[in-house]
Amino acid sequence: MSFGRTAWLDAWEAQVRVATRASRCAAWRYLATGNDKDTARREAERMTILVEPTARAWLHRLISDPEPEPSIARRAELLLRQSDAARILSFRDLAMREASLLRLHADMRAGGNGTKLADSDLLGVLRFEEDRRERERAWRARGAPAAMLEPSMIELFKTRNEAASSLGIGNFHSFQLAQAEIDEQRLDALAQALESETRDAWRLVLEEHCETLGVSEPRPWDLQFDALGFSRQAGVHLDRPASLEFLSRALERMGLPLARLPIQLDTDDRAGKSAHAWTLPVDPPTDVRVLVPRIRGIHDWRQLFHEMGHAVYSASHEPTLSWVLRDAPCPHGHEGIAQLFASMAWSRSWLQGIVGMPAELVRRGAAFARFEALAEVRLGLALFHFEAEAYRAPGPKLTRFWWGLFERFLGVPFHEEIPTWARVMHFVRGAGSAATYLLADCAARQILDAMTRDLGGGTDHPEAGDWLARLLRSGAARRFRDLMLDASGEDVGPDALIRWLNGDRDLAPGE
Ligand SMILES: [Zn+2]
Repeated sequence: MSFGRTAWLDAWEAQVRVATRASRCAAWRYLATGNDKDTARREAERMTILVEPTARAWLHRLISDPEPEPSIARRAELLLRQSDAARILSFRDLAMREASLLRLHADMRAGGNGTKLADSDLLGVLRFEEDRRERERAWRARGAPAAMLEPSMIELFKTRNEAASSLGIGNFHSFQLAQAEIDEQRLDALAQALESETRDAWRLVLEEHCETLGVSEPRPWDLQFDALGFSRQAGVHLDRPASLEFLSRALERMGLPLARLPIQLDTDDRAGKSAHAWTLPVDPPTDVRVLVPRIRGIHDWRQLFHEMGHAVYSASHEPTLSWVLRDAPCPHGHEGIAQLFASMAWSRSWLQGIVGMPAELVRRGAAFARFEALAEVRLGLALFHFEAEAYRAPGPKLTRFWWGLFERFLGVPFHEEIPTWARVMHFVRGAGSAATYLLADCAARQILDAMTRDLGGGTDHPEAGDWLARLLRSGAARRFRDLMLDASGEDVGPDALIRWLNGDRDLAPGE
């Protein structure tokens, strides 16, 4: 490895870093204040650097060096991935199309585009409203904008395919999976195991659910309803003001005192601020920001814990690592840690020990958490199969395919009049995101089991923070597969999640 090449890599990486930081600062301003004056321009500047042909040639040369220095080759590989992603986004204004679709989705969530109520209000009806007809109305109102989004979503899938073939990448979906270090064969086997090994457990909880509701056949508007009444009663305990203390105490207990972490929490209430929790690793590990909206109920808490998982990951990288290595090796690695933290919101030790809920309510919470977890895994499988099909055959037949998956995985009948798939925001973010979330749930459960085995306790153990920090320190320098082998003795697999989903119903996800 010549000194010249290393010097070039250092200099170019520094250039990408400056542009990325500027782009993320602009994205943060947009999320925190609604001002998006600079977001498109900054992102375009970042992409212009990433797609430079001479830089790409250098990266290829570094990767194919006959005597590669491992860390140089890894940095070049990761930078080339960013460059590939930028090349695709530069194809026929794909970046702009994605941005405007994301904006449409966000408007819809906020109550625009003909929806009278904000999405979160409609979701509240689906979760809490006992009157089934009201729930159906809310479900239909939530689905209404989907018909409007459908043509643009199909167009997005087609354009991504065209981008892939124009760049000689082949199948866009497979390319995205490869970029995320996902082995397709392994992934298919994992999905198959999850499907067959959760079928009976799902059938059982769904039957019980229908019995509690007094209905003979479940409909889509029954699936989010908390028939056990946990969420409603939990609100009394969870919605108190100044409840951020519930978060800091949970982190403190695992040996991660918030005051010592380089994480900036934006808790102010201001006009224009996003109503959803977000994490932005502006320049990790020292500049990591979390946007905390108003928190109401268990699901908001779960989302906030999820975002804290992302933030802790970004704040845990060894600061001496080269910039491009200060990230997770792949998206499902980051999401896996986020999901591990999300499970804390359901844990008995948090609900009872920190929030102060009565034991009986917490027990019901554990049963409801399992119903939700099963529903989420089954829905995740439907999304996963749908996403692959969306790139294989993008077109109007997708809606029928979608409802077929709903029948197969969730046991609800067809409602072909509404293409509800078109309102799934994750499909806009990039192909392979459904696979990312399936793998993340598996990884979270596997890591939690390994942590419990090593420490004799889970996320409430005082050494849990140190245990995680050791795992996350190396950033993207090592592949996620190797991290999982170190932590649990195996690559990511479905077994730990399947074991938990079929286990003791009073055992909450975080335990
Ligand atoms: Zn996430």
